[in-house]
Amino acid sequence: MRLPFKLEVLSAWWSLGRSRRSFERDPESHQRAMWHRFQQRVLTKAPLYRDRHSDPLSDFPIQEKAEFMRDFKHINTCGLSLSDAMDVAVKSEESRDFKPTIDGITVGLSSGTSGNRGLFLASDQERAVWVAAVLQRILGWSFRKRRIAFFLRANNNLYSSVQSRFISFKFFDLLDPLAEHLVNIDRMKPDVVVGQPSLLIRLADAQTQSAIDIAPSKIISVAEVLSQEDESHIQATFGIDVDQVYQCTEGLFGQTCAHGTIHLNEDWLLIEKEWIDDTRFVPIITDLRRESQPVLRYRMNDILHAGSCTCGSKMQAISQIEGRMDDVLILGEEITLFPDFIRRAVVGAHPDIVDYQVVQVSSQELSLYLSHQALWGLASEALQEMLLRHGLTDIILTFTNSKIHSHGSKLRRIIALRT
Ligand SMILES: [Zn+2]
Repeated sequence: MRLPFKLEVLSAWWSLGRSRRSFERDPESHQRAMWHRFQQRVLTKAPLYRDRHSDPLSDFPIQEKAEFMRDFKHINTCGLSLSDAMDVAVKSEESRDFKPTIDGITVGLSSGTSGNRGLFLASDQERAVWVAAVLQRILGWSFRKRRIAFFLRANNNLYSSVQSRFISFKFFDLLDPLAEHLVNIDRMKPDVVVGQPSLLIRLADAQTQSAIDIAPSKIISVAEVLSQEDESHIQATFGIDVDQVYQCTEGLFGQTCAHGTIHLNEDWLLIEKEWIDDTRFVPIITDLRRESQPVLRYRMNDILHAGSCTCGSKMQAISQIEGRMDDVLILGEEITLFPDFIRRAVVGAHPDIVDYQVVQVSSQELSLYLSHQALWGLASEALQEMLLRHGLTDIILTFTNSKIHSHGSKLRRIIALRT
């Protein structure tokens, strides 16, 4: 029997609470039981996995977005073809009407920084789990009605599902002009603001210049890398900590705990780590709560830093989300530079440097943009020093007075050359 949506959310809320306690008691046996259930209940319904559903996890192929989309039809358990689902999603985005469903399944489109767009499916039950997870792990429960301002490139049924008696949810379309948003957010006086760091920074600037006067009790950073300098700037302006949510089209993967550390939701995620060095790893994710479109050994494009936390949770702590594998630069004679090295060098050059961009032009050349042009010399010196330390002696740094960032899209501070 199908439950009304709100009861589904309530039931998912209880189930997630139980699942967290069960994981914290005994992580291994909790995950083992969840995995068996996933094999029986979900993999048996996916054409691609049906015949081998009882194989051990490590025998399944690792997928990335390209394969995940290529095999869409054989992965999803709803019998949907990629073209039908894509049709619905694209039409919905063009008309900015965000209630696309096909056979009762919500269809969403990801922004896809690397150009190829991902498609995701969610049943009502999965939407309910998502809402419950957001309420339980991110927003926290409250009987007071809270107003949430959510800045997104495209709304989706999924996000609007959070709307309830206790939560009023307003979607701000990132494609609309900022000036309009400022008027609206000032009128709304949100309790919670959710958005990407580049947007949160602009809100902080507007607040400093008295263009808006808001006092949110929670600020949540999503979608882009939140650097320490952006975090402190936002924190100082609004007088509260910035929470982070690690989520993408493929699911809600982690969020900040009460101690300010991101933890991965290992009570429903199996995280395999592809180590890059002692702390950095690329996560390969299996989501044991997905049913309509199983996420099985999906390699994310992200570089995470394994960390630790004093809150007592056994769920994997992440000290930093450094960026995407796409942002790793290969310079000179195949020397690897992580985005964090570049970021530290540039912002470390002067405390006033917050707005910058480094773009790789070739294996021997980088262009550097700074909003504070007077500090360009200092920043380029610091960058050269760092390059030297990594054995890169003849990299040319060129000046540019414009940033690559199209309105409404994600801002990338470091852009690597892709061949
Ligand atoms: Zn913690």
